[in-house]
Amino acid sequence: MTDAVFRNFIDGRLDEPSATFDSVDPSTGAAWAKMPAASEADVDRAVAAAHRALGSGPWRRMTATARGKLLVKLGDLVAANAARLAELETRDTGKVIRETRAQIAYVGDYYRYYGGLADKHEGAHVPIDKPDLDVTIRREPIGVVAAVVPWNSQLFLSAVKLGPALAAGCTIVLKASEDGPAPLLAFAELVHEAGFPPGVVNILTGFGHDCGRRLTSHPLVSRVAFTGGPSTARAIVRNTAENLAYTTLELGGKSPVVVFADADLDSAANAVVAGIFAATGQSCVAGSRLLVERSVKDEFLARLKRKAEAIRIGDPQDPATEMGPLATLRQRDWIEKVVAESVARGGMLVTGGTRPAGSGFYYAPTIIDAGGSDLPCVREELFGPVLSVLAFDTEAQALVLANDTPFGLASGVFTSNLARAHRMARDIRAGVVWVNTYRVVSPLVPFGGYGLSGLGREGGLDTIRDYTRSKSVWINTSDEPIPDPFVMR
Ligand code: NAD
Repeated sequence: MTDAVFRNFIDGRLDEPSATFDSVDPSTGAAWAKMPAASEADVDRAVAAAHRALGSGPWRRMTATARGKLLVKLGDLVAANAARLAELETRDTGKVIRETRAQIAYVGDYYRYYGGLADKHEGAHVPIDKPDLDVTIRREPIGVVAAVVPWNSQLFLSAVKLGPALAAGCTIVLKASEDGPAPLLAFAELVHEAGFPPGVVNILTGFGHDCGRRLTSHPLVSRVAFTGGPSTARAIVRNTAENLAYTTLELGGKSPVVVFADADLDSAANAVVAGIFAATGQSCVAGSRLLVERSVKDEFLARLKRKAEAIRIGDPQDPATEMGPLATLRQRDWIEKVVAESVARGGMLVTGGTRPAGSGFYYAPTIIDAGGSDLPCVREELFGPVLSVLAFDTEAQALVLANDTPFGLASGVFTSNLARAHRMARDIRAGVVWVNTYRVVSPLVPFGGYGLSGLGREGGLDTIRDYTRSKSVWINTSDEPIPDPFVMR
């Protein structure tokens, strides 16, 4: 039964939707809420509101310090409301409550971090090489930002866009995914409560082919910040051929976790479990390719199998549950297809490959001994709880296998050899290398990928710069008349 109704947030107000669709609780497979399906006209109104707020009104005149204070307040509100938002995210996406609570409480720190940075991002004065000129470089907000996020970790993935964009003085239209938009639509109330002027932050949801396309190709949009899959990223790049918006892309991965025989194997096994089974493997940084030194492969796989089979699967709202369902039925269908193909081509199931009994989109923690590296489960991003295992004999082989992917988002290296850890960290082609740990993030640290994992970075000091453009101001300090007009000074 559908018992909740959500609305878009446009120009500081909750908006009556022109159309709606049902959102499904992945733990039951039943519709539980009505979501607004933003039309192209709704997108146009939201972008127009953002454009107005950018060009006139209180936001334009607000000091960077005052903007920073609003962001800090928003961070405090997110932390204070984390339990409620977490419940919504768990209901709408099936992500377990123990993860959504912890993650959303930490999202508050992202807003506080960018709030603190808002008035520390400076322009420059240039010691110009010509007489009687004074040159300053102003850093100005880049303009209206279109932010598009996927269904997983929507509050988190929005914070790394909203935080720097608002700190820089931009205005935003944020599109929540049509899968699981509830927490982001509810977050709009906090934006309002924090005191952002109308039009500065607009939040809506709808489908990619109309709402997402219109938003990312809109002539008044100057900047697109996208997180999602590579095929959508290609569509977005095509959309931005219309408005030539500056675009950053945070995409998927097929991240390697390299375990050497000299590692603390129990700790490494826990990290591998965290990397592939936490969030039911639906994480861009999922460590979905285990590369293990052959001399310890059997022992390591036996440990992993025990740990995988002990995972508590169940109701995502129960704090004891460790693995919930997949977010959508189509995701489970895709995973089942790739696992079946991989097994048919010689992959050996160590555990899993099945649906646990009951309703909902559940899939068992799955480990496939892949043998060769060309199986679909080794190459494709599955976005689910499926670990593919390959063995290596030497460090050089481990490195070749680690880099044998068109992606390059994250990676893990487990070893007690310090020099080897440094060599691997230097030579792995990925935006993140975790050594003897996995799946740790912070607002202070840049995040992003190589290759098909994306373009640009989110997090850290430099991100605000990506939401500004420079303006060079040349001031003539001489009272003398301008000399020869036909010679460039
Ligand atoms: P997706 O690419 O299907 O959808 C992402 C968003 O794009 C949604 O809001 C969707 O409506 C929108 N969209 C779809 N078509 C569009 C179009 N033509 N124009 C504009 N917008 C359009 O991704 P998903 O299935 O929701 O999420 C899973 C993917 O996201 C995985 O590949 C995962 O690795 C990736 N991801 C990456 C990161 C990261 O930071 N690198 C983080 C989380 C998820």
